Amino acid sequence: MPNTSALYRNLVPVTTALFALTGCPRSTPSSVKLPVFDGQQALRHVAAQVELGPRFTGRPGHAAALDYYEDHLLGCGLSVERRPFTLEVHNEDLTFTNLVAFWPKAEPPRAPRVLLAAHFDSRPWADQDPDPAHRNQPIDGANDGASGVAVLLELARTFAAAPPPIPIELVFFDGEDHGPSAKDMFLGSNVYAGQLQASDYRFGILLDMIGDADLQIYQERWSVHYAPELVELVWNTARELGFTTFHATVRHSIMDDHLPLNRAGVKCIDLIDFDYPAWHTLEDTLDKVSATSLEQVGTVVLHVLHGLR
Ligand SMILES: [Zn+2]
Repeated sequence: MPNTSALYRNLVPVTTALFALTGCPRSTPSSVKLPVFDGQQALRHVAAQVELGPRFTGRPGHAAALDYYEDHLLGCGLSVERRPFTLEVHNEDLTFTNLVAFWPKAEPPRAPRVLLAAHFDSRPWADQDPDPAHRNQPIDGANDGASGVAVLLELARTFAAAPPPIPIELVFFDGEDHGPSAKDMFLGSNVYAGQLQASDYRFGILLDMIGDADLQIYQERWSVHYAPELVELVWNTARELGFTTFHATVRHSIMDDHLPLNRAGVKCIDLIDFDYPAWHTLEDTLDKVSATSLEQVGTVVLHVLHGLR
């Protein structure tokens, strides 16, 4: 395991950085002005994705979603790469696509950079639905899929308005929710983790199911295990911003896309509100997602990025 202190040694002490960034009277540099993360804008990205229909491979919504992300990211001045891969799943060859975007544009991408990730695919089966008749139908994935992506898309918009002090890579994973069992999940992140060079990254933050109107984000156990300093930085940032939706206690061990990244040597935490009754049901719909929740998560990530040196 790499020495964690080296990864964080360049962080500005969070309190100093945040007072500077939030315009508190104790702040010093008046020139530091962060763009506003717009929760309404992020909510529109959730709605647009849901409108495309199911977003898993083979469905028209899957291809349309990739086009939607690419158009937005190119419009924000990032470079975009599609990385298709084919796997045999349930005796069928299926092609998935991870989409990767870099800010600033550079060839090769600048390093070390911060990785921000979310899965974009929606679950093909509502296998947790209380009604057995619904369990073979695809879900909207308004929170599970679209919410994390929406925050990444809105963050990308802020980069042009106020460039973050470090290079950023956004990755939109495919095949996270394929399944039905864990054996056929996290497909995109596993492939991506096999391609990366760990030394290219300072750390990573994964966003998953962070749009719930009743948002309560607890610290996730694997994140604390692999990247305790990053957990502390993020939760301190949320506290300084006055967001009581972030609880500084550990709850749940979640198998998610952050695990392949950590195993590949990139310290990565999972921001997730797993207490979501509509999880993997047909009820995971747009009305369950709130602009305020998206805005709080996006604002915390924005402040973490701008506090880095
Ligand atoms: Zn899911």
